[in-house]
Amino acid sequence: MATRLNPGLADELEAYGAEDVSKCFNCGNCSALCVHSEARHVIPRRSMHALQLGAEDKLQGSLEPWLCYYCGECSEQCPKGAEPAETMMSMRRWLTSKYDFTGISRLFYRSWKWELLIIVLAAIATGIGFTLFGMSQGSINNYDGPNAFLPSAKIHVFDWAMAGLLVFLLGMNVARMWRFFTKAGDVRASLSSYLVSLPALPVHFFAQPKYRECDRKRPWAVHLALMLSYVTMLVLVMFFLGELASGPEIDWRVHVFGYLASAGLIGAVLLNLRGRLRRDSPQHTHSHESDWIFLILLLVVATTGVLQHVLHRSGLDAAANVTYVIHLMGVVPMLVLEVPFGKWAHMAYRPLAVYLARVQLHAEAAAAAEAKGAQPLALP
Ligand code: SF4
Ligand code: SF4
Repeated sequence: MATRLNPGLADELEAYGAEDVSKCFNCGNCSALCVHSEARHVIPRRSMHALQLGAEDKLQGSLEPWLCYYCGECSEQCPKGAEPAETMMSMRRWLTSKYDFTGISRLFYRSWKWELLIIVLAAIATGIGFTLFGMSQGSINNYDGPNAFLPSAKIHVFDWAMAGLLVFLLGMNVARMWRFFTKAGDVRASLSSYLVSLPALPVHFFAQPKYRECDRKRPWAVHLALMLSYVTMLVLVMFFLGELASGPEIDWRVHVFGYLASAGLIGAVLLNLRGRLRRDSPQHTHSHESDWIFLILLLVVATTGVLQHVLHRSGLDAAANVTYVIHLMGVVPMLVLEVPFGKWAHMAYRPLAVYLARVQLHAEAAAAAEAKGAQPLALP
């Protein structure tokens, strides 16, 4: 495929947080020390070079920015201060905006004021909508049971509608990522290559074993706690909302998981916020505005979730309902705007990149084996 060069690409990436890429003189120090760099994926140097050349199509179809886990060690050792770790992060923001067919990611990442404004407007619309809905359903003094202000059965229908929208938006973006990758790399993989590589998807979604290979283990552990807590809460809300909202007695079969997930979410967010305030590690040295918005939104959602539960158990149903509405004012923008278009989207793109890299490896091994008339080797 002919490579289209965009001389303004480096300037464009600066709007996503990249440093001055012209400082890089391609010494390769960064790739020599990066534990994720290998012959096939020379990170971050190859991406830095593609950016310097303005090789837009190549970069757009590249998986390499997603194979970086932002440990920051390459930036610490770069003799020119080219900040490759931060530039890889900015490439991930840029790629997220390229995969997004709506243009919302591009708007969010290039202007935090627009991001904040749209999130605030979505929150206000959600608050008004649920308040009117609640008034049509029951009394503000009833949290659950007959005449409840926000009956869990009806909120459940709304949750599933929101999940459907989310799957559609993320699905479209994921399909575009796959198309860019196969087009740029001229990848022709058979169905069996896709099927054989499939186990990599859930493993890298939940546990991110490659992240663990970085020298510093704490960020991986915090990320794992965040993921487990987030998925636990998602399962509770999607499948056990009635039990979660019932009370005021505590249903330990369900609520214990809610307590653990809430503690995990709040703890992980506070650690991240503290790290960014103190700039105590390389990946916290540079904080993009979108990082703050994402963390603060998640903190609002998690703390209001806990607070409404405590208020309901204390018999303060009116206060619990008000808090519930505030909680939903955070949940809706987070799920409809931040997850498909903001920082959360990396939860889908990074495991997908690891998966597609394996698909490519298997397809090439199969093609080589076929050329030799042998069976393809099993993947390690
Ligand atoms: S980013 Fe720094 S360490 Fe990496 S190749 Fe460029 S100059 Fe060398
Ligand atoms: S930030 Fe860490 S994982 Fe990413 S390229 Fe640099 S050394 Fe590798």
